[in-house]
Amino acid sequence: MKPPRKLHIKSYGCQMNVYDAQRMVDTLEPEGFVETGNPEDADLVILNTCHIREKASEKVYSELGRLRALKEEAARRGRRMNIAVAGCVAQAEGSEIIHRAPVVAVVVGPQSYHHLPELLARAEKDGRALETEFPAEDKFAFLPPPKPDVIRARGVSSFVTIQEGCDKFCTFCVVPYTRGAEVSRPAGRIIDEVTRLAEHGVREVTLIGQNVNAYHGEGPDGRIWRLGTLLHRLAGIPGIVRLRYSTSHPRDLDETLIEAHRDVPAVMPFVHLPVQSGSDRLLAAMNRKHTADDYRRAIDRFRASCQDIAFSSDFIVGFPTETEEDFQATLALVTQIGYAGAYSFKYSPRPGTPAAELREMVSAEEMDERLARLQELIDSQQSAFNKAMIGKTVDVLFERSARNPGQIVGRTAYLQPAHVMASPAIVGRVLPTKIESLERYSLLGELAAPEHPAAVTEQASTPNETRMGA
Ligand code: SAM
Ligand code: SF4
Repeated sequence: MKPPRKLHIKSYGCQMNVYDAQRMVDTLEPEGFVETGNPEDADLVILNTCHIREKASEKVYSELGRLRALKEEAARRGRRMNIAVAGCVAQAEGSEIIHRAPVVAVVVGPQSYHHLPELLARAEKDGRALETEFPAEDKFAFLPPPKPDVIRARGVSSFVTIQEGCDKFCTFCVVPYTRGAEVSRPAGRIIDEVTRLAEHGVREVTLIGQNVNAYHGEGPDGRIWRLGTLLHRLAGIPGIVRLRYSTSHPRDLDETLIEAHRDVPAVMPFVHLPVQSGSDRLLAAMNRKHTADDYRRAIDRFRASCQDIAFSSDFIVGFPTETEEDFQATLALVTQIGYAGAYSFKYSPRPGTPAAELREMVSAEEMDERLARLQELIDSQQSAFNKAMIGKTVDVLFERSARNPGQIVGRTAYLQPAHVMASPAIVGRVLPTKIESLERYSLLGELAAPEHPAAVTEQASTPNETRMGA
């Protein structure tokens, strides 16, 4: 038997890349690859890239420089190291990578990971292999499922991609070009995947997609299912106690999703709903297809359905032509909504997008200054939201042992990390936890109830299923 080959994957960017990296490991495992955290040991290093902002793709080229040195060092020791580039930079700049970085053997776009074994074989034969087509077949139908021990090792919380690509064409965004048209996976396959994850210890699933609430997959009943229907069905899978979804678009909200927050206890009351700007003029220039008022109404619909719901968002500052007045409208919207947290980015022109043609740029100084003001406001809202937890007893899903000996870390419904001193036997369980203090972004507390299986508060799961190795 051949000795196992070692595989190291470094992922950049969004949650979809985290999930894709796991599926690449699953695809290469039957080829004799085992994962290593150390690129120096690896026989194959895959950079799973992100193209959403300029710095992200520049990071890839500087990482390739470092990997070239590792590859040369491996060669001096008589060992061969292959380097592959996957993800959205691979999709957008495939031939440029081949040209600019001769050290790369394989370039593979996000829709072709299931072809990795044959691309590696082709590179072995021809020196290099590139695949950035959007193949007609559904890659998910070809990716092998992870083994039970792999699922357990990945922990109690898992991502599952249910939708890929985007048809919205916001003028600043590369996603429609790198991930292709919007496609939903059939609901039956998602149900099977979540069932298998739950059977092997997963308790929380985050459904992911570039526009996850545009989901419209074929259901087992032959009808088209929307996200709300899918959430209802997944909540019935034994062992699943928490469901989340990300990222949603304000245009694609429908009543079944809003109602799922009211009717399905497993659906967590925390929604990431990016708005990008509070200025209607800029929202139109971004082709967001919604106004600031549409967004406020969307938030109101959620709040009417679920009182304890909280929100996060994405913002872009310095979109071409943004004035101080536009920016003030963004600050006003943030103040009005009150977020539990949010991501904010400086606008970065992406080649091939309509906004990259716009000439009226906001100066770098103005962008920095606006970003700092926006982040200060968001930080103050986030701190207030976190502080308000002190003294409350909240449900925490415990995920793993923390760095501090004896401490176990989990997450609240709002994804805040929460630490308690307890036995690792609580990993995989949802337990009421009294929050006592706040350390930066982490909550510190103690278990409010004795460590007993009956203390599982969200939807019941059997005690032996709730125990996971820490
Ligand atoms: N589909 C989601 C939506 O509609 O909001 C967002 C997906 S995108 C991968 C994540 C975030 O990256 C966006 O919400 C936006 O704030 C940011 N982003 C995308 N393109 C950008 C650009 N050219 N410059 C700066 N930020 C950008
Ligand atoms: Fe990009 Fe807009 Fe699609 Fe979101 S909705 S992925 S920002 S094009």
